Amino acid sequence: MNKVYVLRLGHRVSRDKRITTHVCLVARAFGASGCFITGDFDPGVIRTIDNVCKRWGGREFECTYVESWRSFLKDLRKNEQNIIVHLTMYGLNLPQVIDDIRAAYAAGRNIIIVVGSEKVPREVYELSNFNVAIGNQPHSEVAALAVFLDWLFEGKELSLRFSDANLVVIPQARGKKVVRVS
Ligand code: SAM
Repeated sequence: MNKVYVLRLGHRVSRDKRITTHVCLVARAFGASGCFITGDFDPGVIRTIDNVCKRWGGREFECTYVESWRSFLKDLRKNEQNIIVHLTMYGLNLPQVIDDIRAAYAAGRNIIIVVGSEKVPREVYELSNFNVAIGNQPHSEVAALAVFLDWLFEGKELSLRFSDANLVVIPQARGKKVVRVS
């Protein structure tokens, strides 16, 4: 089955630990199958996500370090099965392009969503099939990714359940209820 992945560009151990972790958490919670991280190698982020997957489910969700974003994107681009969607405030606004991206996904193509950290190299814009803005104002890669996945999956991701979870939330109007299921 075709899948959705996230590529996080330019991770910096000193500055991005929290935000890269949040990119990966959003990817997992909102229906992506895995995350690729470029920039500094940071086993701490990968460990944190592995722990979340062990407790809350989604052990198949993988966070992988990629040394060269350039050759990684070039290889992805060579395969017509893949569609690269770069999220950038400079791109075409989401409502203009979402139908084409959904159609590609429905036709069985993988979607690789690219998010940046600091300045994104020009080549990323060129290697991407779509440069997509979540509104044309600057905000955050975490917000951009969440909104994009929500539009792609049309809200269905909010009902996502992980069959291999140890812990499951029982939704409450007030208070917290978590049960251990395995
Ligand atoms: N000035 C940077 C650049 O050259 O792209 C933006 C840095 S921003 C803090 C980090 C990332 O958040 C961007 O690379 C992009 O993936 C995402 N982002 C921020 N605002 C966005 C928007 N309005 N639409 C889509 N993505 C956005």
